[in-house]
Amino acid sequence: MASLGNCETSGCSNSAKLQCPTCIKLGIPGSFFCSQDCFKSNWKTHKIIHSLAKGENIDGKKEDSYNPWPNYSFTGKLKPFPQTPKRTVPPHIQRPDYADHPQGFPLSEQAVKGSGLIKILDDEEIEGMRVAGKLGREVIDEAARVCDVGVTTDEIDRIVHEACIERECYPSPLNYYEFPASCCTSVNEVICHGIPDTRPLVDGDLCNVDITVYHRGFHGDLNETFFVGNVSEKHKNLVKVTHECLMKAIEIVKPGEKYREIGNIIQKHAQSHGYSVVRSYCGHGIHRLFHTAPNVPHYAKNRAVGVIKPGHCFTIEPMISEGTWRDEMWPDKWTAVTADGQWSAQFEHTLLVNETGCDILTRRLVKNGQPHFMDKM
Ligand SMILES: [Zn+2]
Ligand SMILES: [Zn+2]
Repeated sequence: MASLGNCETSGCSNSAKLQCPTCIKLGIPGSFFCSQDCFKSNWKTHKIIHSLAKGENIDGKKEDSYNPWPNYSFTGKLKPFPQTPKRTVPPHIQRPDYADHPQGFPLSEQAVKGSGLIKILDDEEIEGMRVAGKLGREVIDEAARVCDVGVTTDEIDRIVHEACIERECYPSPLNYYEFPASCCTSVNEVICHGIPDTRPLVDGDLCNVDITVYHRGFHGDLNETFFVGNVSEKHKNLVKVTHECLMKAIEIVKPGEKYREIGNIIQKHAQSHGYSVVRSYCGHGIHRLFHTAPNVPHYAKNRAVGVIKPGHCFTIEPMISEGTWRDEMWPDKWTAVTADGQWSAQFEHTLLVNETGCDILTRRLVKNGQPHFMDKM
C-alpha cells in the first residue's frame, strides 16, 4: 500500500495516515494528515478550500457565488442563478417543428421569412386561434397564482409546463432556437426573454411571465408583469403605464389602419409619463407559426409595412423602460436587459382582427376569478 506522504500541518513531519473526507468527496487532491488532532488544528483554514471548490465565498456562503460569466459587467443588480434541466413533453401532445430540430430551428417559419405576406385566417384557423388564446390565458393565470416572494422563476416554469401539458399544449418557447425553458420570466431590469432559474423572487420585484402555448397546430401568446410582495409606487406606476400603452394601442386596431401607427400611440403615452420604448423587440404575426409577418414595432415613426385587415392575427407587446430605451444581452444570448440597469415592464395580447376592430384572444376571463394586477395597485 502506497504511503500518503507527510502530514500537511506546518511543523509536523509525521507520516500521513488520513485524508480529509470532504476533499475526497469534492475531488480535491492532497489534504493528508497524520492524526485527527492535526486535522482539527488545521480545520479553520483548511475548510476554506472546500468553500472555494464549491464556488462559495470564504465564509461558505452561497450568495454571489454563482457567476457563469466572470468577465461580463452586469448593467443592474440582477444576476443569473443556476438553471434546472430542460423539461420534457409527453409524446401524445402535438409538437411544433422546432421541438425536435437539433438547433431548434423553426423551418416552417424560416421558409416564409422575408415574404412579408400577412396570412388571412379562414374560419377553421380562427377557431384554432381562439382555443389557443383561451388556453394561454388559463396557463398565465396559473403562473399568476404562484408568483410571490420566495418562489423561484424555475418553480413558475414548472407550474407553467405542467399547466400546458394538462391542457394538451406544447409550451411554445421550449427548444425554440434552443430556448431552454417552457416560458420566459423577466425580472426587474430584464426587458424580455429571461430564462427561469433558481433565484427566489424578492419582495418588491417585478416579474413578467411570457406564455405561449401550441395547441393542435396554433400558438397563443400573452404576457403580464406581476408584482412580487410590496412594490414601490414608482415601479407600480411603470407597470400601470405599460398596461395602458398596450390597451391604447389595441383600441386603434381595425381594418384599414396601418401597422406602423401602433408605435406612435405607444410612444406618445410612454413618453408623456417620462418613460422610453424598447426598440429591439417587436410584436409579431402569430397563428400556425410562432413569429411571422407582420412585424409590429412599438416605437414612434417606425417603418413597419402593411395595412390591418380582417382575419389578421398578431401580437402587441410593448416593453416600456424607466430610463434608456437601449438594451443589451446577457452572454446567455437570450436575456435582454436595459443598458442602464433601470427597470422595464411589458404586457402582451394576441389579437384577431374582425370587421370593426379586434378580438383580444388572450383576454382575462372574469369567470376565472383571477385578481388583476390593477387590484393590487
Ligand atoms: Zn409572448
Ligand atoms: Zn410575442
